[in-house]
Amino acid sequence: MSDNNLQFSAAHRSQLLSTLTSQTFDLVVIGGGITGAGIALDAITRGLSVALIEKQDFAAGTSSRSTKLIHGGLRYLKQLEFGLVREVGLERDIVYNNAPHLVIPEKMMLPVIKGGSLSRFSTSVAIYVYDWLAGVKWSERRKMFSKEETLRMEPLLNKDLVLGSAIYTEYRSDDARLVIETLKEAVNRGALAINYTECTGFVYQNGKINGLTAKETFSNRSFEIKGKFVVNASGPWVDTLREADNSLKGKRLHLTKGVHLVFKHERFAVKQAMYFDAPEGRMIFAIPRDGCTYLGTTDTNYSGNKERPRVNEKDVNYLLTAANNLFPELKLNSSDIISTWAGLRPLIHEDGKSASELSRKDEIFESETGLISIAGGKLTGYRKMAERIVNLVCVKLGNLKSPCVTKRIKLGGGFLDAAEVKRFSEYLWGISRQIQVEKPQIERLVRLYGKNAELIVNRAYDFHRQSPNLSSLNQAEWWYAVHFEMVCLPSDYFVRRTGMLYFNPKEINQHATEASKSILSQSKVEYSLEKALQELNEEQIQSLGFTS
Ligand code: FAD
Repeated sequence: MSDNNLQFSAAHRSQLLSTLTSQTFDLVVIGGGITGAGIALDAITRGLSVALIEKQDFAAGTSSRSTKLIHGGLRYLKQLEFGLVREVGLERDIVYNNAPHLVIPEKMMLPVIKGGSLSRFSTSVAIYVYDWLAGVKWSERRKMFSKEETLRMEPLLNKDLVLGSAIYTEYRSDDARLVIETLKEAVNRGALAINYTECTGFVYQNGKINGLTAKETFSNRSFEIKGKFVVNASGPWVDTLREADNSLKGKRLHLTKGVHLVFKHERFAVKQAMYFDAPEGRMIFAIPRDGCTYLGTTDTNYSGNKERPRVNEKDVNYLLTAANNLFPELKLNSSDIISTWAGLRPLIHEDGKSASELSRKDEIFESETGLISIAGGKLTGYRKMAERIVNLVCVKLGNLKSPCVTKRIKLGGGFLDAAEVKRFSEYLWGISRQIQVEKPQIERLVRLYGKNAELIVNRAYDFHRQSPNLSSLNQAEWWYAVHFEMVCLPSDYFVRRTGMLYFNPKEINQHATEASKSILSQSKVEYSLEKALQELNEEQIQSLGFTS
């Protein structure tokens, strides 16, 4: 294992913590969601020394609970947010080019329906403008279809409602994996990132922040981290930290909740991704993925627990009603749901606006003490948000000669394009025969870990040689998760590194005990197996149970 790998290994947390407390960083980032991860990568590539702390697991906040699309946000055209649509639209292409193993082009059908929010004409114009703003290639631009053509392509649609459709291109991704790959790249380049470490307060000198106090979960140890600048990228918790800094003035966050429901694909067998009207005019997605179809989202005001937002019966009924209205033959009901998730949008409050009318634009707040906070925005626009923050920090540091270079930084080992991803999967499949794996298992590994999948396969050979009866590929994946992706607890692996909790929940039960033993013994965090298994079980129950 190289020294670089030690930097993102759960087994080396004590070394990381001693580095964290023994130097002064140019920048300390609070929050290991996509915003914080993007900032860490941008800052390290401009020569700043960077530390990032995350109080839960990386991506455990909103960044594992989104619709998982890299998209320009067609619906923001309705709110005339042309600048936002253009910026995130252009970003789609960059994120795709930098991580083609993780960002998959997805043909999206938008059915035009009787009484819907868009007519055939307005749909055609809206998507034309959308494609144009986002600079979409001609080959991927929208095409319009008649009622008959639409029903041929998607026979499950309500024949009495559908008038035609448009098909356009969006990109599907895995939000939590995008966070992890971004952090891994930042760490490879010298950043220090650690999960389960909470910012508990700030340290000041002459009224200006020059560090923070933090507490590590497993050891319960508190310490100080010194930083010339501190960025608060804590998503839904941004105002909590502004309050701790006594600087919560002016604009505030407005949290809205969005939920998703997951079905087996055979039960909700759409042939492509769909973007359609709910009866009261909001638009929702149905997206096929990994043998499932997920449906979402809602947009309601939220003021409850931020760590564990829950799906309630009203959310479920709203989404089921919308799906059954457009796909009446399905007769979906709550017993068809195999898992759910709920996430919180950290938006900026605007007087008089409803949840879905609030802008998705990001904003930066600077306090008199020097705390820099960023909120709002989208997963898709994370690179630009990071660029704006790091530009600001560089000006303050007098470092004006280092432009942002993240546009060209590849993630996951660096694939040229989707064709190279395919060639790499073939190659890896070719060298994996002796460990008795199926081709889809190898394709899954490449989708999750990019070129690093080869490390897992090589390690699986070692396990296979030692004890041929063990599931060597699983063992190797758990080993990789702990030593290269800072997995400390089983739920980190099952929820945020692999998404298994949502898209393959049954398989968790087959591996829970064996995986948990392996992960805990390698990560060496002080946590009992019983507690870890109980928490995993609670996550499973929560993902299936709805509050009333
Ligand atoms: P988070 O991911 O919440 O990260 C903040 C982190 O800070 C958390 O992990 C938290 O634990 C940590 N933290 C908090 N306090 C502390 C502390 N004191 N010390 C240390 N760490 C702390 N965008 C898209 O582009 N495409 C989509 O399809 C899409 N769909 C969405 C659907 C839903 C339902 C929602 C809710 C959002 C969606 N978004 C989408 C928006 C996108 O998900 C968010 O903009 C983005 O994930 C926010 O990331 P973040 O890093 O700012 O916040």
